[in-house]
Amino acid sequence: MEILYNSTRAKGKAVTASEAILKGLSEEGGLFVPERIPVLDKTLKEFSQMTYQQTAYEVMKLYFTDFSRQELEECISKAYDEKFDTQEIVPIKEAAGAFYLELFHGATIAFKDMALSVLPHLLIASAKKNQVKNEIVILAATSGDTGKAALAGFSDVEGTRIIVFYPKSGVSPIQEKQMVTQKGKNTYVVGIHGNFDDAQRGVKEIFGDRELAEYMQGKGFQFSSANSINIGRLVPQIVYYVYAYGRLLKEGRIQEGEKINVTVPTGNFGNILAAFYAKEMGLPIGKLICASNENKVLFDFFRSGTYDRNREFVLTSSPSMDILVSSNLERLIYRIGGNDPDQNLAFMSALGQGGSYQVTGDMMEKLGDFYGNYASQEETAETIRKVYEDTGYVLDPHTAVAACVYEKYKRETGDHKATVIASTASPYKFTRSVMDAIGGQYPGMDDFGLADELSGLSHTAVPKAVEEIRTAPVLHKRICGKDAMKQTVMDILGI
Ligand SMILES: *Cc1c(COP(=O)(O)O)cnc(C)c1O
Repeated sequence: MEILYNSTRAKGKAVTASEAILKGLSEEGGLFVPERIPVLDKTLKEFSQMTYQQTAYEVMKLYFTDFSRQELEECISKAYDEKFDTQEIVPIKEAAGAFYLELFHGATIAFKDMALSVLPHLLIASAKKNQVKNEIVILAATSGDTGKAALAGFSDVEGTRIIVFYPKSGVSPIQEKQMVTQKGKNTYVVGIHGNFDDAQRGVKEIFGDRELAEYMQGKGFQFSSANSINIGRLVPQIVYYVYAYGRLLKEGRIQEGEKINVTVPTGNFGNILAAFYAKEMGLPIGKLICASNENKVLFDFFRSGTYDRNREFVLTSSPSMDILVSSNLERLIYRIGGNDPDQNLAFMSALGQGGSYQVTGDMMEKLGDFYGNYASQEETAETIRKVYEDTGYVLDPHTAVAACVYEKYKRETGDHKATVIASTASPYKFTRSVMDAIGGQYPGMDDFGLADELSGLSHTAVPKAVEEIRTAPVLHKRICGKDAMKQTVMDILGI
C-alpha cells in the first residue's frame, strides 16, 4: 500500500517518499512524516531467520513505497557491505545485564553510519525518479559524528556536493581530525565559532531561504539535507531494532512475542524515535528509555510536559548528545497531538520565539511509552569504570550515559525485562574520556597513544578508522563566524 508523507507544519499536498527524501525539510520548515505508520508484514520468527540486509529490505519497503524492489535492494547492498568490519553489521554483546547493540562497525565507528551509508544511494535513486537535473548540495550541521559519516557516505558520489559545518571547539580531537582529513573532490568541511545549536540553526535558515533556493536553481544547484531530520535517515534506523529482536529470538534469549525494553542515548531524538516507530509497527517493545547527559531538556520534558531550551549549554564527555533542541522530537509532538499541523506549528513557533512550549495533558498521557532520565559527568565516568571492572567490556561515554540511565530505570521501577541498549560509538572514538575513566591519567599523551593503551587494556584491536587518520594530511581549514554560514556556502559553490 502506498505511503505518502505530510509536513508537520502545514496541511498542503502530501509527497511521495522519494520527494520527501529529496527535499529533506518541507517548505515551511516542517519535517516529513508518513501519513500512517505501516505494520510489519513478516512474523517475528521470519525476522529471526533474516540477514541484516534482508531485514532492511522488509522494513524499508513498507515506507519507501515508490521504490521498486530492485532499487531498494541495490541501495541496501551498496550501503551494508565491506565498509562494515563485521558481516553481522550490528553485533550484539551481552554485558552487565543488558544486550548492547553495537551500531558502530561502519566507516566512522559510530551509529550515524547506519543511516548515512544508505542515504546517498536513496537520494540518487530519488533524484533519478523525479527527473532532477540539478547538482544536489548536501548541507549538514554536526555535533561530531554526523559530519564524518555524511562526508564518508557522499564522498565522490556523482551529482552531489557536501558541505559540513561543525562547532570548532565542540567536537573531540579525533572527530575533528576525521573530518578535516576527508578525501573526495565534492567534500567541504567548515568549523564555526559557535556551538552545535548555532550550526544547526544556520543550516535551517539556509534551507528556509526561498530567495537563495531560486537563485541556486538558476545556477543548477539544489539543497538537500543529510541531517537526522531526513526521513531517508530515520527509516533505516528502524531496521536494527527489528534485526536485534530477531537475533535475540534466534539465540533463545527471548520468547516469540516477549516484550523487550530499549535504552537509547539521545541527542536529536532520531535514534529513539526510530525505536518508537518500530514499536508502533508491531515490534514487541515495552519501554523506550530515553537517556540524556547533563543537557537534560528531554528528561525535564518527560517529567513536566514542558520543553524548555532556556538553560545553560553544557559541554560534556558525550558531545553528540550536547543538544538543547532535539529536532526529531517534532515528529513525536505532531503525532501525540493528533497529527494537527496548526497546533504543532504553534508549539514550534513558541519554541523559536520564547524557547519553550508546554504540551497538553492529553498529549502527556500519550507519552507513557517513554521513560526519561539523565546521567551526570561523574556518573558517566563511573559507569564506564564499573562495567569495565566487572566485565572487561568498554563503553564509550554516550553508551555509558544509556547504561547509567538504564540502571536508574531498573532501580526506580523494578522492571527487569530483557533490554537492548543502543551502543552508539566505539570507545576508540572517545579515547580520552574513556581512558580517564578506566585507566588513570595520561598527561601529555595524544589520542593515538591513548588508543594503543585502550587496545592493551580491553584486548581489542584499534579500529581501521582510527589507524587511517593517524598520518592523514589535513585537507580542510575553512573557519567562519556563526552568522557567515550562508556566505560561506555561496563562496564554496562559486555563485
Ligand atoms: C548522534 C549520536 C547520538 C544521538 O542520537 P540522536 O539520534 O541524535 O538522538 C548518540 N550517540 C552518538 C555517538 C551519536 O553520534
